[in-house]
Amino acid sequence: MTDCLFCKIVAGQIPGSIVYEDQELVAFKDIDPQAPLHVLIVPRQHIETLNDLRVVDDALVGSMVRCAAALAKKNGYSNRGYRTVFNCNREAGQTVFHIHLHLLAGRGLNWPPG
Ligand code: 5GP
Ligand code: ZN
Repeated sequence: MTDCLFCKIVAGQIPGSIVYEDQELVAFKDIDPQAPLHVLIVPRQHIETLNDLRVVDDALVGSMVRCAAALAKKNGYSNRGYRTVFNCNREAGQTVFHIHLHLLAGRGLNWPPG
């Protein structure tokens, strides 16, 4: 997708503070962090929302979640705790329409979320 912000970060066309990458995923720091650790885990493949996931994407989503857990562990938050969030569509706060998993850690996180 030529006008997708996260496709451009994945392709290296605009800079992102990348903390992890492999063949299927790129993880980078959120530009407006909401916690001391706020990373976005993004598939290289352009998928607009969770509503567009297919059965063949199950392994990809599993990789995204395991990537979040690994990054939380690497940063020392496995036991302390962390939150992972997928926002789907506007009422949930999705602003970038290329799926991404938020990883938030390093402060107390309220429940229910706002
Ligand atoms: P959403 O609101 O769609 O769930 O999350 C989009 C996230 O992308 C937001 O937390 C926002 O701060 C982040 N974001 C928006 N533009 C950029 C950017 O250019 N670079 C980075 N690293 N993050 C961005
Ligand atoms: Zn995209």
